[in-house]
Amino acid sequence: MKTQDYIALEEEFGAKNYHPLDVVLTKGQGIWVWDVEGKKYMDCLSSYSAINQGHCHPKIIQTLIEQAKRLTLTSRAFRNDQLGLFYKEICEMTHSHMALPMNSGAEAVESCIKAVRKWGYRKKGIPDGKAEIIVCENNFHGRTIAIVGFSTEAQYKDGYAPFTSGFKVIPFGDADAFEAAITPNTVAILVEPIQGEGGIIVPPEGYLRRVREICNKRNVVMITDEIQTGLGRTGRMLAEEHEGVEADLTLVGKALSGGVYPVSAVLSNKEVLGVFQPGDHGSTYGGNPLACAVARTALKVLVEEGMLENSAKLGSYFMEELKKIKSPIVKEVRGKGLMIGVELHKEAGDARKYCLQLKDKGLLCKETHERVIRFAPPLVIKKEEIDWALERIAQVLK
Ligand SMILES: *Cc1c(COP(=O)(O)O)cnc(C)c1O
Repeated sequence: MKTQDYIALEEEFGAKNYHPLDVVLTKGQGIWVWDVEGKKYMDCLSSYSAINQGHCHPKIIQTLIEQAKRLTLTSRAFRNDQLGLFYKEICEMTHSHMALPMNSGAEAVESCIKAVRKWGYRKKGIPDGKAEIIVCENNFHGRTIAIVGFSTEAQYKDGYAPFTSGFKVIPFGDADAFEAAITPNTVAILVEPIQGEGGIIVPPEGYLRRVREICNKRNVVMITDEIQTGLGRTGRMLAEEHEGVEADLTLVGKALSGGVYPVSAVLSNKEVLGVFQPGDHGSTYGGNPLACAVARTALKVLVEEGMLENSAKLGSYFMEELKKIKSPIVKEVRGKGLMIGVELHKEAGDARKYCLQLKDKGLLCKETHERVIRFAPPLVIKKEEIDWALERIAQVLK
């Protein structure tokens, strides 16, 4: 079968909720992927940062195979020999006290909403049904009904009403607006350290520190959604470390398995996740031994193979070199670590057009919103490979 045959199958039988670039991939290794025609591309999206460790990382795949042959699912009706080790290792790496394992990122977000609401009623003494959660404009936290209900992106919610109440939207990056929005019924603020799907929006320096101070002062739970920014993407284990803060609840997903299996987690101090009692919440696959084993190795290789440092060092290099490209269509280059956005001027037209040109040159990139091209390769990329990419990016942007 050829590229067009695979595309025809998807078009005939698949729901049309995505508009992918027309490249049909069949193999991946490290930062590279191959299409069904044998053409090789550099992956500059890393499946929205789920592939931080690189495609088919040999140690993660080895763990997957070994664990799959031994035990895959017990459900939480019984215990398994991977879950406790997963808890201990992820808590140590992220300075957390407790973890709740789920599958997708959206499930981690939903789970933390349940946890902070219950915390509000049980610990803060908010009248039942009145809990408010503050979220930011331009957020992206997933696609469930509750989550899209507090999105400010019209398309994400169009046609899906009615929504879940109890959310208040404030501008992103504005700590004063946050403080002003707090009421006696506020339980939490949910915020991305850098807005990923929103267009790689970096808040002002000191923002998370001020949010942390305000949360302490007003007894509000600080939740950071690090599903995209976490696990090395910005050059640290968690992006909140850049500001030296620790959220009360931190959400991770995506790269938690290195892209081989859906695994997410809510990481927390004891006070918030401690509100859950047996029967309060659950997931059949959450915390299964296959997921836990895979996640343990995915976390281990991030640290042992120097991916955090590589992301910090080569991320800065990549960004500085992108800024040097003299292009009339580039408005701004921004980001942290290997999470980089290039925003184009309005007159340049849709970013997708440039992504198609980059694809022809062997780079797979995806636009976020209409005018931002994201560069987020796996964290195992080398300097020579970034130079290879820069040469091609410069050709397309000039
Ligand atoms: C991708 C993402 C999610 C949702 O994760 P899914 O696994 O797609 O449900 C939530 N928050 C952020 C910041 C994300 O980037």
